Amino acid sequence: MVRLSKEKERAYQKQKHVRNRQKVLDFLGGMCVCCRHSDYDVLQIDHVIPINLPSKKRMPACQMFFHILNGNLPKSDFQLLCANCHMKKTVIELRNREKKPAEIESRRWQKNILQTH
Ligand SMILES: [Zn+2]
Repeated sequence: MVRLSKEKERAYQKQKHVRNRQKVLDFLGGMCVCCRHSDYDVLQIDHVIPINLPSKKRMPACQMFFHILNGNLPKSDFQLLCANCHMKKTVIELRNREKKPAEIESRRWQKNILQTH
C-alpha cells in the first residue's frame, strides 16, 4: 500500500470532498429551490426539517454526502438553497421556534414563503 505524506493525504481528501459535494449538488437538482440560483460556490444543502443539534453532534458533511448519494438518507429530506435563501429560511425558523408545529407553515422552502416574509 502506498503511503501518502500528510500534506498529500489532506490535498487528496479535499479534492474528494469537492467532488462529492458536486455530486450531491447535481443529485439535488443543481439550483436553489427558491430563486433558482445555480452558482455551486454559493449553493448549500438544507435539511428540509431543521435539525436542532449542536454542530458538534451533527453528521460531518463527508458522511452526509455519502449517505445521500447511496440512498441511506431520503433525498426528500434535503434541498438546495443559495446562501441568501438559506439564511432567510433560518431566520424565519428561529422566529417560528416558539410556535406549535401546527402553526408553522410548510417546512419545504418555496418561493411564495419568501415573498410573504
Ligand atoms: Zn436562492
